[in-house]
Amino acid sequence: MGVSENYRSIVQELESLKQLGTPTLIAVSKFQPKEKVQEAISGGVIHFGENRVQEGIEKFSGLGKPEKDFILHHIGPVQSSHIRKYTGLYSFVHGVGSEKILQELKRRMDVDRWKIRYFLQVNLTEEDSKSGFSKEEVLKLLQKKETLSSEFCMLEGFMTMGPSSGDPKETHKVFQEIAEIRKEFFPQGKLSMGMSGDYRIALEEGSDYLRVGTAIFGERT
Ligand SMILES: *Cc1c(COP(=O)(O)O)cnc(C)c1O
Repeated sequence: MGVSENYRSIVQELESLKQLGTPTLIAVSKFQPKEKVQEAISGGVIHFGENRVQEGIEKFSGLGKPEKDFILHHIGPVQSSHIRKYTGLYSFVHGVGSEKILQELKRRMDVDRWKIRYFLQVNLTEEDSKSGFSKEEVLKLLQKKETLSSEFCMLEGFMTMGPSSGDPKETHKVFQEIAEIRKEFFPQGKLSMGMSGDYRIALEEGSDYLRVGTAIFGERT
């Protein structure tokens, strides 16, 4: 099946499950060629995710107007040296994993007057391979609410990855825990969780943004 068909079949599935919520489906196009992205845009896909800033720039420049023809999300860890490159192209950042990065992002967006919404990455699986805040760290940060958003850089909510094991029970547990943090400490916030292998579980746990790559584009080349 082609990209647009895959995308539409997930949209239909989400539609049939809309009692669980109506999340935004982000088509994760990392490592996929520009032609496939072009095809997806023509097929009506709007939200895209890339995890390497430069790759996103090369792929999406020339494909239309950001925020109008497509909405680009950076997913995964944020590097200081790349922050200035978000300006003019990226609308969301999923994966702010330290206070230092957060301050740099805020400063840069306010200087450039480019609006960006970001998610704090929370790592509850205690796998060293995953970056982000621990639960304690994120709760501490949330106490300083007034410092979390500025005119051009706004806290959208929390992002997490399910456990690498893929075990459904574990995955439910991790997603539930993030949902609890939101409910208790930032109820207006959104949740970014769920990938190709676990987006159904994420949906059941109230996710607002699903980041789906291979189930839409096929295996990465
Ligand atoms: C690659 C990636 C995804 C998409 O993964 P799939 O398994 O291909 O759906 C989602 N989120 C992050 C942070 C990623 O790096």
